[in-house]
Amino acid sequence: MPRQFFVGGNFKMNPTSREQKENIVKILNDADVDPNTEVVIAPPSLYILPLANILRKDFKVAAQNAYIKTSGAFTGEISPAQLVDAEVPYVILGHSERRTLFGETSELVAQKTRAAIDAGLSVILCIGETLVEREAGQCTQVIEKQLQAVVQVTKEADWSKIVIAYEPVWAIGTGKVATTAQAQEAHSDIRKFLRQAVSSAVAENTRVIYGGSVTAGNCSDLAGQPDVDGFLVGGASLKPEFVNIINSRR
Ligand code: PGA
Repeated sequence: MPRQFFVGGNFKMNPTSREQKENIVKILNDADVDPNTEVVIAPPSLYILPLANILRKDFKVAAQNAYIKTSGAFTGEISPAQLVDAEVPYVILGHSERRTLFGETSELVAQKTRAAIDAGLSVILCIGETLVEREAGQCTQVIEKQLQAVVQVTKEADWSKIVIAYEPVWAIGTGKVATTAQAQEAHSDIRKFLRQAVSSAVAENTRVIYGGSVTAGNCSDLAGQPDVDGFLVGGASLKPEFVNIINSRR
């Protein structure tokens, strides 16, 4: 079965008013979108439920983070169980901003992935190398290490709940998109790794999406690569061009 094209909108800590949020939702709700694309919108946690209430029902919502515990004295955190209770189907984990600004290690990201899947969530698992790592020729090594931490705490069946987002750190929010060749090479390496570390079926069926300065202008070429199964979009997900990105395989 072909892998379903997937486009996620990562709003990060935006927008800053309810009015702006409603404007974005209106654009999405009015848009003519490819019914073959799975679309998932990740607003700040404060806005997940109000946004889900007004968002078209063929789009899903995601949280941008979740903790490893179910409940208790963890000020500021949201649990996977709470997200499931709120009927939020997806969570983004391991985003490079969480890794670099908030000190999340690959081990913590793996524990979060385990906890999220146990609770019944699907996970958008972000991985990717920095510019220094790429220039040192360590790209494959870095992404394999990030994936290995998750492989260690998961079983083959868990991978049906994971979408891998390859997001080179140097491309996120910088306007420097990976070339189609760079994206295809990294995605194909990820699939190769899954084949040897998990199984051929998981390598074949897991969606590997690209993130990092995706725009309406560059999405079609990237979407044409055989191992690129969609996008995780930051800045452009807040703009009307997000609709073009959703439709990039059309
Ligand atoms: P960007 O962010 O599209 O603004 O580069 C992507 C992401 O961080 O997921």
